[in-house]
Amino acid sequence: MKVWGRRFAARGWRVVVGDANSPLQRMHLAFLFFAAWVGAFSGAFNVVLSLSPPLYGLALEGFASIVLWMWYRSRWRADAERMAWWFCLMIIFVMMPINWLFNQGMSGPTLMFFLMAAAYSLGVIPAHGWRRWLVLAGFLIMPALMILLESRHPRWVEAYPSVAQRATDLIVSYYLNVAILLIMVSGHIRRVKSEQRLSRDYAARLREQARRDSLTGLLNHAAFHATAEARLALAGDRSPGWALVIYDLDHFKQVNDKYGHPYGDKVLLHFAALLSEVAQLYDAIVGRCGGEEFCVLMPRASQALIETFDGRLRERCCSQPLAQGEIHFSGGGALAPEEGSVTLWFERADRALYAAKHAGRDRLIVSDDRLTLSR
Ligand code: GH3
Ligand code: MG
Ligand code: MG
Repeated sequence: MKVWGRRFAARGWRVVVGDANSPLQRMHLAFLFFAAWVGAFSGAFNVVLSLSPPLYGLALEGFASIVLWMWYRSRWRADAERMAWWFCLMIIFVMMPINWLFNQGMSGPTLMFFLMAAAYSLGVIPAHGWRRWLVLAGFLIMPALMILLESRHPRWVEAYPSVAQRATDLIVSYYLNVAILLIMVSGHIRRVKSEQRLSRDYAARLREQARRDSLTGLLNHAAFHATAEARLALAGDRSPGWALVIYDLDHFKQVNDKYGHPYGDKVLLHFAALLSEVAQLYDAIVGRCGGEEFCVLMPRASQALIETFDGRLRERCCSQPLAQGEIHFSGGGALAPEEGSVTLWFERADRALYAAKHAGRDRLIVSDDRLTLSR
């Protein structure tokens, strides 16, 4: 077996199948498993009902054992591709002619079941190379060959001993094969649906991750901008509208330099948590728009509301200091412009923040159109 493995690997076969859990692989394995039991059952059934010669029954039992071994190798020995190739060869070039000649030609649905199994196996064989073409050619040529043979030499094909036996064979094999196919297909559909659900959830998680800042979990710069744009567009000329506040931690570089970057991260996380807590009280939306820069979108806002919000945030920061003291920050606020873009809105808030820094930091300034200082 090891020699075989090496030889196949040398010819470009994947001896270890990449994705044994893919719906195709699972369906292929299920077909192999059921093909073994259908073969074993058909062999016994045909002999018991005297539909075929005992040698044919024996051949089917042999076939069933080989297929069960193939299933085992595919399932537990990572040898699915090679087994799929052998299985296709066996079905098309051995089973089909034998079944045709000794089991009443194309009459029973069992052969169709085996052909479906071979078709699934074909999907497991690598798409390139001559093997796939040989199997495809077998699929096309072998049935035509059998039909020609049967029309030329009808007596070569074993006939049903009686009409009653024909009916019994067809009914039993029909229900057996339909039951197996239904079980397999419903399992397949269930798996595909659950995989679709998983990939939808995964895509939604990725989309959400792309909107979030990795340190604080707040909306990132792009997502916050998009949100602000949407709010501005929805607000129209309804008032009171939205307000934007940009907060920037004071002398944060010094905090990093003095106490280290990890402590700086702690400060950012602490500030993000306090800001989110206060924002919740005001139905406000919070984002981290830069290194130590945070933005807030406040609904139903007025200058007074912005100031109350800011006062509350400062109270929290004062009452919950970190190991190296409380956090100091400056803020610039601006009400949504009645005309103009988000850029203008951010510019106004930014200029107010700049003014707060220049006025000595640790304070809020709310912009009006002419940028008068409110505090
Ligand atoms: P100002 O009061 O004028 O805002 O001064 P500042 O020191 O806060 O501003 P400056 O822009 O000079 O420095 C910002 C610092 O923020 C520099 C940078 O290392 C730090 N920073 C940016 N992102 C992070 C981060 O994710 N973690 C940490 N620990 N520091 C960060
Ligand atoms: Mg800054
Ligand atoms: Mg700063």
